[in-house]
Amino acid sequence: MDPFWQTKSLAEMSRAEWESLCDGCGRCCLHKLRDEATNEISWTNVACRLLDSESCRCSDYVNRRRRVPDCIKLTPQALDDIDWLPPTCAYRRLHNGDDLPAWHPLRTGDPDSVHRAGISVRGRTIDERHAGPLEHHLTAWPGRVPRTPQAAARKVVVTRRGSS
Ligand code: SF4
Ligand code: SF4
Repeated sequence: MDPFWQTKSLAEMSRAEWESLCDGCGRCCLHKLRDEATNEISWTNVACRLLDSESCRCSDYVNRRRRVPDCIKLTPQALDDIDWLPPTCAYRRLHNGDDLPAWHPLRTGDPDSVHRAGISVRGRTIDERHAGPLEHHLTAWPGRVPRTPQAAARKVVVTRRGSS
């Protein structure tokens, strides 16, 4: 039987199915800057203060919108207007008519596959409370898909071990 994300539209999914699409990468919880003249998005590696930098999950998901008022709630309708989700994001991919990638936890059955593939922000962020000006932390990787995810994963693991 084909999996639900290939047979249902985003709007047809149950709440549990919708939530399971999030791969836990944490990229959407990074600050972004928008050029007012060109509308272009620039990524930073500065993370929302509620992002757990190790698990890459929100540390207070239930209360997140009360604690961080500009945290955006994703809905099928909102995806029509949101242009800042990373290219790896399952919601963006399905909204664009693409499939889930091989490293997605729904395919692997393993929540850690997003970290091993070098997709998550683990070990690569700075807390917004300590970062200073966002312009000092511009970086391109959150807006890209690693060309060879497994190679990127090896690189991330080595970096984390070296800095911990
Ligand atoms: S970018 Fe998409 S898949 Fe990644 S944490 Fe955010 S909502 Fe989930
Ligand atoms: S409040 Fe939570 S979900 Fe929202 S941006 Fe911050 S860490 Fe991410």
